[in-house]
Amino acid sequence: MPLPNILSNLNSLIALGKNMDSIIIIGAGAAGLMAAYELSKHNKNIILLEAKNRLGGRIHTVYDPAFSQHLETGAEFIHGNLPLTFCLLKEAGIPYHTISGKMVHLKKEKNKVVKDDENDNWDEAMDEMKNLKADMPLKNFLDTFFNDDKYKALRSSVKNFAGGFDLADITTASTKSLYREWKEEWGDQYRVDGGYKLLIDYLEKQCKKNGCIINTNCCAKKISWQKNEVNIITMCSRFFKGNKLVVTVPVSVLQKNNKSEDYIEFAPAIPEHINAAKNIGFGTVIKIFLEFEESFWSKKTNDAAFIITEENISTWWTQLPVKNNLLIGWVGGEKAISLKDNTNEEILGLALQSLANTFQINIDLIKTKLKASKVSNWWKEPDINGGYSFNTIKSVDAKKVLEKPVENTIFFSGEALYQEVPIGTVEAALASGKKTAQQVLKIIK
Ligand SMILES: Cc1cc2nc3c(=O)[nH]c(=O)nc-3n(C[C@H](O)[C@H](O)[C@H](O)COP(=O)(O)OP(=O)(O)OC[C@H]3O[C@@H](n4cnc5c(N)ncnc54)[C@H](O)[C@@H]3O)c2cc1C
Repeated sequence: MPLPNILSNLNSLIALGKNMDSIIIIGAGAAGLMAAYELSKHNKNIILLEAKNRLGGRIHTVYDPAFSQHLETGAEFIHGNLPLTFCLLKEAGIPYHTISGKMVHLKKEKNKVVKDDENDNWDEAMDEMKNLKADMPLKNFLDTFFNDDKYKALRSSVKNFAGGFDLADITTASTKSLYREWKEEWGDQYRVDGGYKLLIDYLEKQCKKNGCIINTNCCAKKISWQKNEVNIITMCSRFFKGNKLVVTVPVSVLQKNNKSEDYIEFAPAIPEHINAAKNIGFGTVIKIFLEFEESFWSKKTNDAAFIITEENISTWWTQLPVKNNLLIGWVGGEKAISLKDNTNEEILGLALQSLANTFQINIDLIKTKLKASKVSNWWKEPDINGGYSFNTIKSVDAKKVLEKPVENTIFFSGEALYQEVPIGTVEAALASGKKTAQQVLKIIK
């Protein structure tokens, strides 16, 4: 609805939060819910606005009866012993399990698909990254230090990893930041039994118990503000008033211009913060869920947790230690961008063909074994438009700007603001939400 119509429809506006301490939070993903949870422990007047009809944002566990188990269409793994995530799981009594199995690399050799050893030049690349004096985009780094023909396989492997795992655009991604991520020995990886949504349900329950008001289908469109006062108008003409505002939308939303449906207007404008948001990278990802009648891959890769191939849809994983017939395909970074406008049917076709090539099985046979399928293309997800953030060479400074509140009234939070490793994770979002809540509380005091 255009803004003039919204403004003329003032009768339907709802005014809330007249107390001095009322805090509005935009976005009910992990960061927004964590901020609300922390703030509401101190009896503040909290209103959460979420554009979608569900909470969780990029945590989106789907319980689809066509599949034999729930699907994590967004976040799935706990990447190591991450303190805040584990603390919350423990507090909520939510069980989790360690994933098992190997990483198997498969490549084509003389018309046969064989197991491949990982590229052994990786250590050399890591050493060079470690000793790098001035930061530079990953592409420049590879062109400068690994341009020789003998490094062709290494270059391709590093690019694929940065794009596939970190969703990074190598022409802007910070080499130093990728090194910080990659040098971490994450150790064990985990999955939440029953799905990450249980964590969101727990946070929602605690927030409501502490008196938070949570509004779904409430997409913030215009934020008029002055020191200690914010007035928000939503897409469906609702009006919210508060004294402090915490914005936890993905940086991809802050990067939009006024022609985009997802654009949020700040009046007066806050160019320093919006320009900073534009200096944080944001990649995209497509996840493909395929459940078959039998696990035909286990003949070749019996103990594989992850299967890395040279196909169009190159990365796959199983549910080990849970044994079932579900395979999950993953396309990130540049490859995901090249497929972003394809239909789900086209992506499904590519996925099946990739598996047929990898396991040298006739595509028609594979199709007959397919019981259920689902494609999650995060580029097309409204109010998110992608997967998660990566650091460009300008991100360190950008995060410092975004961490400074605007006139002690508007605060920014979310996974992309996290300054430690691993960024782009649920842990990053929870930690950022908690830190922002502490910042707000300090100022209110
Ligand atoms: C496919 C995929 C796989 C992933 N895998 C993992 C993984 O295995 N492990 C891991 O730790 N992390 C993973 N992540 C990353 C993790 O999900 C995110 O880092 C984290 O959930 C982000 O939380 P957040 O609160 O910062 O943002 P979000 O979850 O995006 O929350 C922001 C919320 O703001 C809402 N919003 C946007 N605009 C408006 C508006 N105008 N008004 C009101 N609300 C608005 C959005 O709808 C959204 O709900 C994955 C992400 C994706 C997409």
